[in-house]
Amino acid sequence: MSKTIFANGVIYTLDSKNPVVETVVVENGKIVDLGTQKDMLLQWGRHGVTTIDLQGKMVTPGLIDSHLHLSGVTFNFLDLDLTGVKSKKEMLEKIKAKASTVAPGSWLIGMGWDENLFEDGTTPSIQELDYAAPQCPIYLKRICYHAFLVNSKALEICNYHSSMEIPMGGSVVLDPDTKKPTGLILESASKLITKYIPEKTYEELKNGLAQAMKFAVKKGLTSAHTNDPAYFGGLDQTYRLYDELINQEGYGLRCNLLIDYPFLKDLKERGMCAGYGNNQLQIGAIKIFADGAFGRRTALLSDPYHDAPGQFGEAMQDQETFYQMVKDSREYSMPIAVHTIGDKALENVLDVLDQFPMVNYRDRIIHVSLVREDLIKRLANQSRVADIQPRFVVGDYPWIQERIGEDREQYLYAWKSLLSSGVICAGGSDAPVEPVDPLLGIHSAATRRAPWDQHEGWNIKEKLSMLEALKVFTIGGAYATSEENIKGTLSRGKLADMTVYSKNLFEMEHPDELLKTDIEMTIIDGKVQEV
Ligand SMILES: [Zn+2]
Repeated sequence: MSKTIFANGVIYTLDSKNPVVETVVVENGKIVDLGTQKDMLLQWGRHGVTTIDLQGKMVTPGLIDSHLHLSGVTFNFLDLDLTGVKSKKEMLEKIKAKASTVAPGSWLIGMGWDENLFEDGTTPSIQELDYAAPQCPIYLKRICYHAFLVNSKALEICNYHSSMEIPMGGSVVLDPDTKKPTGLILESASKLITKYIPEKTYEELKNGLAQAMKFAVKKGLTSAHTNDPAYFGGLDQTYRLYDELINQEGYGLRCNLLIDYPFLKDLKERGMCAGYGNNQLQIGAIKIFADGAFGRRTALLSDPYHDAPGQFGEAMQDQETFYQMVKDSREYSMPIAVHTIGDKALENVLDVLDQFPMVNYRDRIIHVSLVREDLIKRLANQSRVADIQPRFVVGDYPWIQERIGEDREQYLYAWKSLLSSGVICAGGSDAPVEPVDPLLGIHSAATRRAPWDQHEGWNIKEKLSMLEALKVFTIGGAYATSEENIKGTLSRGKLADMTVYSKNLFEMEHPDELLKTDIEMTIIDGKVQEV
């Protein structure tokens, strides 16, 4: 195989033996040598060797998103993405534009609206929705997936009438004067509608996933740890989608698939376990939920919610059941990856994990939003990784302060404390909850505030330096799948995955410059990716 020389860069290897080099030499997707331009060209530069000029740009090991749902990003590409929409007017315009591309009578599905971002806080009325999309039924999921907007066509299709039986725990919100539907539907009442929405075809899903993967690569990602079977119709279809795109069609993004616990038996039947696959596509850990989320006060806390005395949140299952889930996973030599937001949930998870020896792959605690001193110590263990999402400060502040109260805030998203106590941290986005954009994640880690805010940041002692944040999104991600020997730094023998930036992250006067930084090139397996 011919060699490729990536020359004339400012290449931060994150390898202490050789921290900054100008040139990396690649063969068969791996780094064979690295050093000064002069030395490398002298040693390797000869006829038939391809040289790629990095034009003096900053280069780092390829960025890794350690927790996201590419399935959710896929649906955002296929459907109408309303995340970040700032007014009712803008929302209606988007609906109108999308409706013009949908065949009359076909469903217009959308997601991500959040009236808290609107100036007057009101959602469109059913009349406004009818006006924007007169020809097609519409179904628009709020950012939280607990409230939905529909138009009259959608209600017509589900034969809605005033004495209709509404599923328990849900409601169709009525106008207090006219007693007619407002278009707003809450919780399980959505089932009235969803059973009439046809499922996406395999080809549609594949097309959307291809777009999602390309988008991730365009944002500088070379690896993604993605959790999808619950949204992509089970293990078989999920694996087939990725296998066809990555192994057959050559899509570059390396994907590690987290498999939800209910599909453990399917994994066993198919003889797949952690590590199954290759270094492009691989089966990862078993995904389990320990608790809920702060927004709905379902994250499980040791002490009650500050704004709801007596409420502690909810465990997803009792401890015996959780123990059994881990035992089942361990009997099949599987690591686990547990959604854990509240501090009590973290305690519950650690109590069970302490009873099982490590398998070949690390266990992962996803989110680790609220901690305690004693729990940080227990997390600092070479067999465990904290999958953190720095962008959660943008989504959760300032309302989170009321939820948890001043005393506990120092333990909220306490990334610096985690790192300085020796906890291995891996950075992710949890997309589609937060955008697929590691530079935004690094920005949040370094500023602890939204890009559009100007203040010093929330709980600033937990800010990360640029180097720490970058490590979390590179080396940290490699540790999360126990692949630190093949990725995470640029060193001889490791995979040639690199991200090239328009600006030098270490020469920025303020991290806000990240917001004006572009990804110039994403290199995976020694190949510059087309995006
Ligand atoms: Zn998630």
